[in-house]
Amino acid sequence: MNKNERQKYPLVWQKDDLFIKIYSSIPNIATGILITTNSTTFVVDPGDGILRDLNKDAGADTILKISDIFITHGHHDHIGGVWSLLTYLSVMRKISPLNIFYPKGCKEIESIYKAFNTVYKSELSYKIKLIPIDGSKTISRNSVKIKSFKVDHKEYSESGDNPSPVPSLGYKFFYEGKSICYGGDSAYCESLVKHAAGSDLAIIEAGAENSDQTELHMTLSQAAGIGRTASEYFLVHIPE
Ligand SMILES: [Zn+2]
Repeated sequence: MNKNERQKYPLVWQKDDLFIKIYSSIPNIATGILITTNSTTFVVDPGDGILRDLNKDAGADTILKISDIFITHGHHDHIGGVWSLLTYLSVMRKISPLNIFYPKGCKEIESIYKAFNTVYKSELSYKIKLIPIDGSKTISRNSVKIKSFKVDHKEYSESGDNPSPVPSLGYKFFYEGKSICYGGDSAYCESLVKHAAGSDLAIIEAGAENSDQTELHMTLSQAAGIGRTASEYFLVHIPE
């Protein structure tokens, strides 16, 4: 894949009423994903710009229907839009509760929630439930089943020494015999290999160049290798 063949956002995929739109997945800038069925509206990794993209593309009615947010990890390009989305939902008087699923130990999302709650608690129109997930778990929401799994994502400390792991999850969404697997950010790891295999759609990050030696992301060829074990795949999070 050369530069001209790289993904142009948004990426859209649909099978019956299982629909996914990836508004963006650009390293260090933003990821933003909408998943819907006739009866469910999820957001996955609400990076910066998610509110703008959802408002322009799907409108207020869809935004108000969001029942669950799934966060893969706490890097800013995956959660930068949380504050504005939560605020908008209250301004628009959302009533139904909102669940935020995130990897246990993700201090960024907990800090955002704590600060948000401090500012808006007295006027919030809806309830927010933070749900930390420790590795592998199965969640049921309406007729969608969501399986979380640990992936292998790291970051460099300020000293620039060896990278250390960040709490990170992938999610696999099952709905009426169809499945979508999203690995978030991850180096090559067996749990992602296992969950991507046989999916109707696999969304795999390819954050490293083929020539890169990095423990942080997968190369295009590693990611494509995993993608090809699914019926269809998107490679995302490719450096621009
Ligand atoms: Zn990351």
